[in-house]
This record gives sequence, structure tokens and C-alpha cells, in this order.
Amino acid sequence: MSRRKSFLRELAPTSHWLFGPLRDNIGVYGQTVLAASIVNFLGLVSSFFIMTVYDRVLPNQAVESLIALTIGVLIAHVFDLALKSLRGYFVDIAGQRLDATVGARVFDNLMAMRLDARRGATGATAGLIKEFDNLRDFFSSATLVAVVDLPFIFLFIGAIALVGGPLALVPLMGVLAALAAGLLIQPFIMRHARDAMNEGHLKHAVLIETLAGLETVKSVAAASLMRERWRRGVLRQARISTIGRFVNQAAVNFAGFAQQISQVGVVVIGVFLVGDGQITTGALIASVILTGRAMAPLAQVAGLLGRMSGALASYRALDRLMATRLETDPRREYLRRDRLAGRIEFREVSFVYPGAKARALDEISFVIEPGERVAVLGRNGSGKSTIVRLITGVYEPNEGSVLVDDTDIRQIRPADLRANVGAVLQDVCLFSGSIRENIALGLDNISDEDVLAAAKIAGVHDFVGASEAGYDQTLAERGEGLSGGQRQAIALARALAPKPSILLLDEPTSALDAQAEAHLVARLERATRGRTLLLVTHRTSLLRLVDRVIVLDQGRVVIDGARDEIVRSMAAAKAARAAPAPTEPRPIGAALAGERIRAVK
Ligand code: ATP
Ligand code: MG
Repeated sequence: MSRRKSFLRELAPTSHWLFGPLRDNIGVYGQTVLAASIVNFLGLVSSFFIMTVYDRVLPNQAVESLIALTIGVLIAHVFDLALKSLRGYFVDIAGQRLDATVGARVFDNLMAMRLDARRGATGATAGLIKEFDNLRDFFSSATLVAVVDLPFIFLFIGAIALVGGPLALVPLMGVLAALAAGLLIQPFIMRHARDAMNEGHLKHAVLIETLAGLETVKSVAAASLMRERWRRGVLRQARISTIGRFVNQAAVNFAGFAQQISQVGVVVIGVFLVGDGQITTGALIASVILTGRAMAPLAQVAGLLGRMSGALASYRALDRLMATRLETDPRREYLRRDRLAGRIEFREVSFVYPGAKARALDEISFVIEPGERVAVLGRNGSGKSTIVRLITGVYEPNEGSVLVDDTDIRQIRPADLRANVGAVLQDVCLFSGSIRENIALGLDNISDEDVLAAAKIAGVHDFVGASEAGYDQTLAERGEGLSGGQRQAIALARALAPKPSILLLDEPTSALDAQAEAHLVARLERATRGRTLLLVTHRTSLLRLVDRVIVLDQGRVVIDGARDEIVRSMAAAKAARAAPAPTEPRPIGAALAGERIRAVK
């Protein structure tokens, strides 16, 4: 019980994915704010130093006071230097922590995302993960500190009011104008940030798709098409971000302009106030310096607002990703099934691929008993692979239910399901790493003997045993460096290695030559005994492995019966067809489907 609880907690962190870790960082941010505040107070020191020197030291040539004041102001500046450096360091630490917690969580979420929730291209999803870097930079950049400086603008203006009286109105108006300008353009910058992000994702998608299919792109001379897509993506993104950056820079420049104008204004009005005797010359100079100081953060804040739009767009995109439905619903009580007997049942199962219109499976029902060996036949697109996918649980049926050992697979803990179901999918996918690693993928405690045994059955040993590097031979990305048949053999070894009670093989010999296939069938016959076997195939030679045949047509079961009977009727159908006119050979499933439909009517 406690084990399951901790497992659930691990998967379902209760706090928000971003704000939770940010809250945990509050101590670090608190220190930053404190450091920034002290830096701001120290900023007052210089201007009071100059004012005192002008008004008191200069008229009396009080050198002793000057020395004392200088020592004081130097100490203040050393402090200032230290605190500023620390401030940057604190923010960096916060960023590091965010990386560790949020970054890991975003990736976990991506892994746990249901395939049917993963809409859109792989490249676009990868681009989305890049958005995290953007967000992280925002929360760990020194510019974030500018926010802390914002309230101190008013402290400085207060100080100006103290020494220069009505002079304070000038910087106050300047600050308000700069802030208003910065806020006014926000909606515009926001829209651009969003567009630029989306364009960036599209660009990324082209890149990933091209790289993933580089061999095909080159062999069919699709390079010019891909280059054109890439060029268009780059141009669009460049145009959009140029506009965004221009507007943002304009806001930054306007803040600088407001600062300059305010200082000029203070000087001009100050001259009259000094003439009237309302303030001293020292006060005027201090006011000018304080005005510069007060308005310095404005340019930074204007820049920050621009970056905030980008960060906000990233946050929204990531938040959508983090809110997608996960495979493991933390609120659900999963059943632990360490060992499954291997009974498979489809109950009125219908399935439509996300975004597709037609049903890939249409109210399918059948039962496969533990240890039963069944072939699924049917023409291309009849739904055979879809059945395999539903049993592995990567997709959920839209209607009806898929049961393993009389339990809906949605209730079985995904990890347990995967440990008991070995699958060779139609599209074999290997990963970079050694051959052994590829066979033992996802199996932490597997022994070398088990890997070797599986490799021998699958025929991996035939080509690996002879080579020098053996099982340590490293594969490049997606198993490049091996032939199609060799890749398929490794995928089969991977499915066999954990000795699963259910074995799903989707055309496991499609890339094998006739001899290799014959050897494999002989070995599989022994290895699959006692396990539930669901075999999808177009090859008659593989039917030796099974006792029963299910034929699909357009997502429906059209024949379900003993193998021998069906093979007999298949031969009869062939003979009948051969008599009138020679027709082109049809796959066995299609031939059978036609036969059955006639028989039913
Ligand atoms: P084949 O013998 O060619 O492997 P199959 O019987 O395995 O065919 P499935 O892959 O199960 O066929 O596909 C069944 C139907 O679902 C097909 O009409 C196909 O177009 C559709 N389909 C398959 N995969 C997807 C997908 N990822 N998204 C949308 N539609 C899909
Ligand atoms: Mg298929």
C-alpha cells in the first residue's frame, strides 16, 4: 500500500508545475530582493555626498570633513559592488533549481503523455520543450532584478522632493510617461511574441522532419522542397521577430529619452529655484543625480516587459502541454498485476484515430484464452496493427473495452502491463546504444543469460555472435548501421527478453529472407509455447505458429476459427478462383474475407 502511495506521489506532484518550484525558491528570491533594496539605499549615498560637499565642504574648505565623507562613501560603494555581484548569483541559483525541478517535470510529462493527446508534429512538440529554456532564462536573468528596483524609483523621487521640493514633479512625470508608453505597447508585443513562437515551432518541425528522414529526402530528391519550407519558415519568423524587437527597442529607447529630458528639465527649473533661494546649488546637483538614478531602471523595466511577453507565451504553451491527459491518472487507483496469465478480450471495441474520420476498429469482439496462439489476417488498413496498439495500451478505445485477465487495461498500472506484454511493432524503432542495451531496453534487472536466450531465438545471435564487437556493437541513432532484417530481429529479441505472458508480433518477419524466416518459425514455435501469441502477418508460412485465425476487414472481424479449417477453405477459394479466370494474387486475408462474406449472406 505504502509502495503504491509513494509511487503515486512521485507521479502526481501536488503543486503547480511552475509556481510550486517558484514558491520553493522564495527564500532565494527574498535574498535577492533584500540585496537589491540595500543597493538602492546605498545609491542615495552618492548624491547626498555630493550635495554635502557642495554646500558645506566647498565654501569652508573643510578638508577633514571631506576625508571623513570620502571614506564613508567609499565603504558604501564597496558594499554596493559586493551586493550587486551577490544579487546576480542568487538569481542564477534560483534558475539552477528551476532547471532541476521544472525541467525534469516537463520531460516526465512529455513521456507520460498519451499518444492520442500528442497532437501535431514531433518537431513542434520538441520546439515546445525549447520554450522551457526561454521561461527559465526569464526567471533566472538579472533583468528580473529590475522589477525590484521599480518601487525604489519612488523612493528616489521622494528623496528629490526632500532636497529639491517641487523639482520632484519633473522626474515623476517622466516616470509616468515612460511606464505608460511601456504598458501601451504590451498587447502588440504580446501578439508578436506568440506569433514568433508559433513560427519558431513550425520551423523546428521542418528541421526535425528533414533530419529524421534525411535518407529518403536525399534519395527522392526532396531536398529542394524541404529547403523551400525551411526558407519560408526562417523568413516568416525573422520578419515577425524583427517587428517585435523593433517595437520593444523603441520602448527601451523612449525610457532613456524620458530620463535625459527629465534631467534637463530638473536643471532648467532648478536654476529658477536656486535664483529664488528656495534650494541650494548642492541640492540642485543632488537632484539631477537622483533623477538619473531614479529613472535608470525604467529602460530595464521596458526591456523586461518585452521579455515578459515572450516568457508568458512560453508559459501558456507549456501549460497546455502540462495540462494534457497523462497515461497515469494520479487520481486513479491502479491495480498492480505483477504477473498476468494472458487472457485477452475485446468487448465491442470501436476506435477512431485522433483527427481521423473513419473507424479503424468497428465494434470488435473476441476472446483469446491464456496460451492460445492466434493469427490476425486482413488486407492493408483493415485494423490489424490497431488491435496490437490497443493491447499495448498506448491508445484507448473510444467505445467498449480491452481486457487482459478480465481487467480493463485502463485499470492496470501501465508499467505492469508493459512488463507482461512483449510487442514487436510493425515499424521497428531502435535507439542509439549497444545491441545489448537495445534488447534490454526498459528491463533493469535482466540477466545476460536472458538477453542471450532471447537473442538466440530471435536470430540476433546469428549475425552478432560472429562479429567481433558482438553485443557491444553500438548503433547510431534509430539503429542505423544494421540491415532491416537485423533491426527486426533485435526488436523481436527485445519483446522476448522479459519472457512476457503475452506476445504481440506485428509482421515480425516482413524483412526476413525465406530461410531466416523458416529458422525463426521453428525457434518461435518452441519459445511461444505456453504464452498467449497474437501474430499479425501476410505470410502463409507463419500460420504454422498458430492454432486459430481471425480475419479482419475494414475494422470488423469477418472470420474467426480454427486454423486448419480456414486454411482448407482458403485452398478451396483459391481453386474456385483459379477455375474461371486467372486473377491477380490476393493476400490471404482478402481472399478469406470475400469467402466469408459470401458464406454469411
Ligand atoms: P497493414 O497491413 O498495412 O499494416 P493494418 O491492418 O495494420 O494495415 P492499421 O494500421 O491498423 O492497418 O490501420 C487501420 C486504419 O487506421 C487504416 O485505415 C489507417 O489509415 C488508419 N490509421 C492507422 N494509423 C493511423 C494514425 N496514426 N492516424 C490516423 N489513422 C491511422
Ligand atoms: Mg499494420
